[in-house]
Amino acid sequence: MGKLSAKVEGVSVSDGGDKKSSKPRSKKSRKMKVSNQIPAKRRREIERALDAHDPSRPEWDRMSGAKQHRFFGKRIKPGSIRQIEFPLLDVNLGDAWPTPVTIIHGHRPGPTITITGGVHGDEMVGQVAASLLSQKVFTGPGRPLDPELMAGTVRLAPVLNPPGLTRQMRYFPDGRDLNREFPGSESGSTTSRVAFRILHELISGSDFLIDLHTAAKGRDNLPQVRADLAHPASNRIARAFGIEVILDSKGPKGSMRRSSVDLGIGTLTYEGGGANLADHEAVQIAVHGILNVLRSLHVIPGNASRPKFRLLASGSTWVRADEGGLVDLFVGRGSFVDEGETIGRIVDPQQPSESADIISPARGIFICTANNPIVTPGTPVGHLLPVSKGVRLIRKGLDKKTNRLIISGSKGEPIWREEYEVEEIMIEGEWSGGAVDAEWQAGWSNSNKQMVEAAEEEDAD
Ligand SMILES: [Zn+2]
Repeated sequence: MGKLSAKVEGVSVSDGGDKKSSKPRSKKSRKMKVSNQIPAKRRREIERALDAHDPSRPEWDRMSGAKQHRFFGKRIKPGSIRQIEFPLLDVNLGDAWPTPVTIIHGHRPGPTITITGGVHGDEMVGQVAASLLSQKVFTGPGRPLDPELMAGTVRLAPVLNPPGLTRQMRYFPDGRDLNREFPGSESGSTTSRVAFRILHELISGSDFLIDLHTAAKGRDNLPQVRADLAHPASNRIARAFGIEVILDSKGPKGSMRRSSVDLGIGTLTYEGGGANLADHEAVQIAVHGILNVLRSLHVIPGNASRPKFRLLASGSTWVRADEGGLVDLFVGRGSFVDEGETIGRIVDPQQPSESADIISPARGIFICTANNPIVTPGTPVGHLLPVSKGVRLIRKGLDKKTNRLIISGSKGEPIWREEYEVEEIMIEGEWSGGAVDAEWQAGWSNSNKQMVEAAEEEDAD
């Protein structure tokens, strides 16, 4: 068995130093434990930006009386909900790709928060979470998003790539990635036109944007938030989300997040789970985080819940396979590993007795892991967040059995499924032919026997 250490792609990773970052920002707030993996220079940049920022917004004064909300030429009265079909293409002929936008307009004035999902058509988590938030269980009287109790406006747009959703494709039909086409253009490619329209009709006019994503196919993301922490409004909602892991980044060129920040809109991207899956835990954490942001902005009543600690990070490492074959990964999203730990083993079905270990290059948390076992040399098997500080804190936050980080909001019953809503259907009858399992197994072993026989026949050829 060969021991191969995985290659490390250099990225600026945590420095430990700079002990004197104790400038009190809010005098009375409880001390939040933060493990800062962000280099000192970047931290000073963030602090300067926050200090220079004046957060007062007179138009959100609750005494000033709410006005009608406007979206796409439609008016929404204070204290009401309206669903509007928003065509993503400006056409008279052909498919305009209409997508629903639910506007929940509060009784009192406050900020406008837009929540988007499905920018990548095969990413289900955001599309499920944003749809759930439009349901009566959230918007009904006395519920968390009851417009009568709200101060401000929520725009929910769960499906920003309708053709991608129906085809289960990440991209638009012209093969382009919507999240690389912003700010878009009115006369550009199909996807670029969609980007332009989304930016100018849906995103602009918002004070905050929460864009919901998952990892691409073949990977699984630890629920996490990404935001430009030197942008004060983005910094504010990233922290308010109440999640353990925040990555400080500007977002890729052409991303909706970057263009939105360029318009001065506080923006975060939530990442959780993988493509094609309605990952229950990731959906639940998304809903938990969105409600936290709304509470923290005083759009809805109640106090935002906070995690026990926060990891602020500005660097990461891709761990890659150095051999080809099938990988048996010992870690999953949120796994905490030490430097030198064996995190997986590559086997080659053509040489079944051989194997190669994959070794963790650093101590840290896996914020993403592969769930497709096929690797060639260079294929990433995990995305590691190296951790040099706050190790004791993190160890306390691990699930004792799995050694994985427990993310706030993942525990407990989902608030959108309530006991009274669960329909119980009684099916009357008697078990015949013995115990329930016995019959099933009999059938199973029969078909298994047939398969074995069929395989033997093939061998005989
Ligand atoms: Zn995505």
